[in-house]
Amino acid sequence: MVGDEKSKLKALSDIASIDITLEFNAILQNILKITCEAMNAHSGTMMLVDENNELRMAASYGLSPDYPERVHEAAKKAGVPLTFSPSGAVLETGNCYIVPNVFEEPRCKPWDDLSKEFGFSSQVFTPMKRGLKVIGLLNVYVADPHQFTGEEINFVTIAASQASSVVQNARMCSKLKDNLQELKDYKEHLEEKIKETHKKLYESEAKYRDIFENANDCLYIHDAEGNFREVNNTALKLLGCTREEIIGTHMSEWITPESLKLAQNSLDNGLAGGHAEQQMVIEVICKNGEHSWMEIRRRLIKENGRITAIHGIGRDITEKREMEQQLKESNEKLEKSYEELKEADKLKSDFISNITHELFTPLTSIKGFTELIHSGDMGEINEEQKNCLETILRSSDRLSRLLKELLDAANLEKNQLELQFAFTSINDIISKSIMELQPQVKDKQITIFQEIPTLPRIWGDSERLTQVVINVLSNAIKFTPDNGKITITAEENTDSIKISITDTGIGIPQDKLLRIFDRFYQVDGSTSRRYGGMGLGLSICKSIVEKHNGSIWAESEGKGTTFYIVLPKMTANIGEPDVTSN
Ligand code: ADP
Repeated sequence: MVGDEKSKLKALSDIASIDITLEFNAILQNILKITCEAMNAHSGTMMLVDENNELRMAASYGLSPDYPERVHEAAKKAGVPLTFSPSGAVLETGNCYIVPNVFEEPRCKPWDDLSKEFGFSSQVFTPMKRGLKVIGLLNVYVADPHQFTGEEINFVTIAASQASSVVQNARMCSKLKDNLQELKDYKEHLEEKIKETHKKLYESEAKYRDIFENANDCLYIHDAEGNFREVNNTALKLLGCTREEIIGTHMSEWITPESLKLAQNSLDNGLAGGHAEQQMVIEVICKNGEHSWMEIRRRLIKENGRITAIHGIGRDITEKREMEQQLKESNEKLEKSYEELKEADKLKSDFISNITHELFTPLTSIKGFTELIHSGDMGEINEEQKNCLETILRSSDRLSRLLKELLDAANLEKNQLELQFAFTSINDIISKSIMELQPQVKDKQITIFQEIPTLPRIWGDSERLTQVVINVLSNAIKFTPDNGKITITAEENTDSIKISITDTGIGIPQDKLLRIFDRFYQVDGSTSRRYGGMGLGLSICKSIVEKHNGSIWAESEGKGTTFYIVLPKMTANIGEPDVTSN
């Protein structure tokens, strides 16, 4: 039944030269067809082992298209796998399986009906191998029962082996095709990605360009030699030039030689391994020749230890610098004026000290001789003369008090008011002060009430503290109308003694209660004329009390005023007994 030698050779050569780029199933179909035709066979099938190691009908020849399906159905119906057929034996052994008569072959039983229907009676099952592994089967069916000859078996075996190579090549080719497609897809994907990245890059470049150009500060890039590579609009505006006029030029054309030296020095420092971030103030020369000042922050860009570029940010500080300069000049002027003022103040204090000393001398003579005449030791005087002399004496005392106040104020200013610290009795100080002011008290018919317990002695300057109490008390008398009332109290607290002097006088407005302790301050001018005084007394009192580490303040609500003086019992940090402090 097999064709002649020539047609067999042709068949094998046809199988070998099948176009492996064809669709896979078409290749299998071709191989099967060529083999069956060369064998003058009734029909044939080709089966392949799939990835699950199961047999799959891959092609059929001379049979209806539903044959493969029918084969599977018959196996299913008989409850056997496809490997139950002679194909299974080929899979197991790797050898050909010859069935001279299908109706006598037990392995063909499930498909007897099919064989009858399709009209074949004998079969040869041939393995398609890759190495030792069976990858499929090439099966040839003959219409009548047939004893296959060795020659026929040989031919089918060679055809199967050829078919196996073609299948492998086709598979490889298909794999290559798949890979090629994958590569093509990947290439397209990459191209898409590159496009996207380009777009993003362009957008980000545009964004940064916008920020670069319109930043508030001047931005620039120059190379290691100092030639400008990039400058933004802000810098162009400041320099008053166009981009073309600056790009490629050396920075020495745009900054003063001093600034160039500064920039060069810090560049050398950066080269020597110093900071890559540098800050400096440079003087810029604009295109029109005007100079501006810029605060520069720049970064040295290095590659392999070599500076390749310098990125700089510059802020125009011309106005700020001018203002600083003006501020410096006005500060210097202010300092000079202050010095002059201090000098003038010193001259004034010296002058007051000198003049008061000068005035004291004649005043002492006036007082001395008046007292002498008043005493009658220089001859008898009548009542009228006596009254006149008493007026002179009172005025002299007043003048003497005013001069003393002036002198104290001048000394305080020069920090030359000396205090003599000793154990001092506040009770004595208050009694002495009241005694001293008896004439005024009497004159104005004022009643003085006292609520003063016996107090412990404190560490203080008795004379100066008496001066304080007299000053406050005499003010109370001065600003209280005739027949008024003054109350003096004192109390001992844990660490201090608190004295209060309350009058029923004109009172002090709330907003003036602190100011009355300022030098030369009087509540108002008309009061000063009416009540006299220089507005110095309370400022001196405040200094004296504070030198005792105490405090003095006034309280007034409409009518009447209360002055409080608080003195510490012992002032540990103010000298030792018998030590003079100022
Ligand atoms: P002056 O010599 O003018 O009295 P002071 O420094 O002793 O100077 O007092 C400053 C001002 O404080 C006084 O001019 C007066 O206006 C106000 N003053 C002081 N004590 C009293 C008081 N007890 N009642 C009302 N006003 C007072």
